Amino acid sequence: MRLQKYMAHSGAASRRKSEEYILEGRVRVNDDVITELGYIVDEEKDKVYLDDKRLRVIKKHTYVLLNKPVGVVSTSSDEKNRKTVVDLIESGSRLYPIGRLDIDTTGLILLTDDGSITNKLTHPKNMIEKKYIATVEGTPNKIELDMLRKGVKVGAVKFAPAKVRILKKFDSDSILEVVIHEGKNHQVKLMFEKINHPVKKLKRVSIGELELGDLELGNYRYLSEEEVNYLK
Ligand code: URA
Repeated sequence: MRLQKYMAHSGAASRRKSEEYILEGRVRVNDDVITELGYIVDEEKDKVYLDDKRLRVIKKHTYVLLNKPVGVVSTSSDEKNRKTVVDLIESGSRLYPIGRLDIDTTGLILLTDDGSITNKLTHPKNMIEKKYIATVEGTPNKIELDMLRKGVKVGAVKFAPAKVRILKKFDSDSILEVVIHEGKNHQVKLMFEKINHPVKKLKRVSIGELELGDLELGNYRYLSEEEVNYLK
């Protein structure tokens, strides 16, 4: 980053004023007074001073909530060159997704460049609820739903109790609301496979207090300050 830009981003002065300070010899990078306007600062390593006062750039992070469409993978890069959630967002930062959704699952996924918050939402110990709307084959009966409510075992994996309720019944399938807090691989699909009602469609509509709302498929929005504080 150019020195005058670094100074402006640190809140020390406007870019024009910063240029004046540089030309006046009042700015130091590490041990050297710099009077050259185009001087490039390494934001990670260099220490910048104005009149011996250390300036720091407050790095603002980016937090995005995306409605992931089908056919998009939720990784930063894909070895098969498929479209990724990161490709859907125009951002100057290197974003990465928090948690995963299967390629054929739609709905809420978060992306950020802030490494410090990645764990809070995904760690099971925090019991953050993830709510899904699942269309499944047939209609599960009470015994089957109670199995999911108690927690089913699939192979060696034991899933924690889920909250499940039927929203709509059709002739050949039904729509359910499913709330889990773990987020193990393919968890919702495996749970319903276990009770012989395979998932045909899956959409995540909320993670804790963060909601998809009426965001269109493939669209995204930036989190509000309040929502960002919730993540931390
Ligand atoms: N459970 C699944 O089976 N798939 C997802 O994408 C998310 C939860």
